[in-house]
Amino acid sequence: MSSKGLGQHYEWQIVDKVMETPDTYTFSFSPNSQSQRFTFNVGQSVTIRAFLRRPLASGKFEESFVERAYSIASSPTRDLIELTIKDEKPYGYINPSTGKADGFAAYFLEQTKIGDKIDVRLNRAKNHFLWKIAAGLEKNIAYWSGANGIESARCLIQYLQDSKNSDIGLTLYYSNPTLHVINQRDDRPLLNVIYYNWLIEMAKKIDTFKIIFTFTRDSEILTSDHPRIMFRKGRFFEGPNRTQEKTLSKYYGKINNIDSIFNPICGSSGFINGMVRLPNGRIERRKGIMQDLMDIEGVRPEKIDREQYFLEVVGVR
Ligand SMILES: Cc1cc2nc3c(=O)[nH]c(=O)nc-3n(C[C@H](O)[C@H](O)[C@H](O)COP(=O)(O)OP(=O)(O)OC[C@H]3O[C@@H](n4cnc5c(N)ncnc54)[C@H](O)[C@@H]3O)c2cc1C
Repeated sequence: MSSKGLGQHYEWQIVDKVMETPDTYTFSFSPNSQSQRFTFNVGQSVTIRAFLRRPLASGKFEESFVERAYSIASSPTRDLIELTIKDEKPYGYINPSTGKADGFAAYFLEQTKIGDKIDVRLNRAKNHFLWKIAAGLEKNIAYWSGANGIESARCLIQYLQDSKNSDIGLTLYYSNPTLHVINQRDDRPLLNVIYYNWLIEMAKKIDTFKIIFTFTRDSEILTSDHPRIMFRKGRFFEGPNRTQEKTLSKYYGKINNIDSIFNPICGSSGFINGMVRLPNGRIERRKGIMQDLMDIEGVRPEKIDREQYFLEVVGVR
């Protein structure tokens, strides 16, 4: 362990790399010795740093250290630490003002392999995401996840599975554009939802875990043969013909008091609070899950927790 810059640096080795969707992989990391281990809580994140080769506008390449934050996607009860990394910014994207590629994930996914050692720093904020759950202060959870934002929920579900803690009830509202994407090479449909099959398996196994999938661009609604697995379509809080829907109340089950429910929200700024950056650089404020929970369901701000992964840029793809 060393302590260059803020926080202690640890060196962890990649021992596995599994594809979740075509642009998302889960990496398993192992500390090489006891001194490289750290303890952490559900909801915490790490910053990882890697030496990456990225393109310049000139067509040449440059190598430098780049870092990004990632939620820990595995439970503190497990030996390995797992991170799920989604490539949000396309490979080769050049920032127009610097003339350089400024992404991380596309190059990390391309250039790291099993056996590589990675610099990891635990983000130690006291009031980190989900700290109230980790401290046992909140037990009735409605977790709202965007297409990328499910990682801390995976950590919590693994924790529920390992600890057999039946005091915590988790209802997961998970929004994705589509269930599948079409593989360009052979027109095959590939899963586009991070952890999809595993989540279904866990909802069947863990009595206190329920999941509601929504697909904002698929026109069909899937059917479910299990009471703890539900499907809908369209944005949360929007019913058919753009009517308003009380999504929390409709799918949560019996709610005696809205104040008894704790609502972590995780994903892009657009998903959380409607903040987006337009192609001309202007920031626009729309509506996100946070406003809908407060305006439509009467949830108080103290009952909302959030982890923003990045500022959403619209109209770029
Ligand atoms: C506390 C915390 C925890 C996080 N946990 C996770 C996690 O568990 N898993 C995970 O995958 N990510 C997580 N992130 C986000 C992560 O740090 C990276 O931002 C993410 O992996 C995307 O990396 P990237 O290199 O592709 O894009 P980045 O260089 O990080 O840039 C992301 C930005 O690119 C924009 N963008 C998207 N498409 C385009 C385009 N076509 N052109 C230009 N810009 C575009 C996005 O809108 C966004 O603003 C977390 C972030 C934080 C702060």
